[in-house]
Amino acid sequence: TVGMACLDQAQKICVATSTSGLFMKRPGRVGDSPLVGSGFYADSTIGAATATGLGEDIMKGLISYEIVRCMEEGMSVQAACEMAVNKLDLRLKKINGTAGDISVVALDKKGNFGVASNISGFSFVYASEKTAPTVYVTELK
Ligand code: ASP
Repeated sequence: TVGMACLDQAQKICVATSTSGLFMKRPGRVGDSPLVGSGFYADSTIGAATATGLGEDIMKGLISYEIVRCMEEGMSVQAACEMAVNKLDLRLKKINGTAGDISVVALDKKGNFGVASNISGFSFVYASEKTAPTVYVTELK
């Protein structure tokens, strides 16, 4: 999946996802990527988030909506990303004994970004008017 969140000069936020789904997916399978709130969510008055990983697990948490909702309640974009990934990861492990890959990126209305993942090596790019495109790679804490 490629997920992108953008903030323009008029302070409008948009988010988009594109995916080919999972390798060897069943015909007709719909993953998380096209599902509002799960694969992506944006509200220009708050921020935006997008997710990637195992759709069957991600869609159980409405994780992109959860991140934006937590930002609305005052959480920083980074804290919201970490909380949402940790919460869903723990819940899946409790219910299923295992959790698939879950990675999120998010942006708040001021242009601050956040990222969280339950895997090491998740890579993403941040760019702004002042910052050249920069690649970051996550490490597990
Ligand atoms: N989330 C996508 C899906 O489950 C796959 C991916 O992120 O690569 O369809």
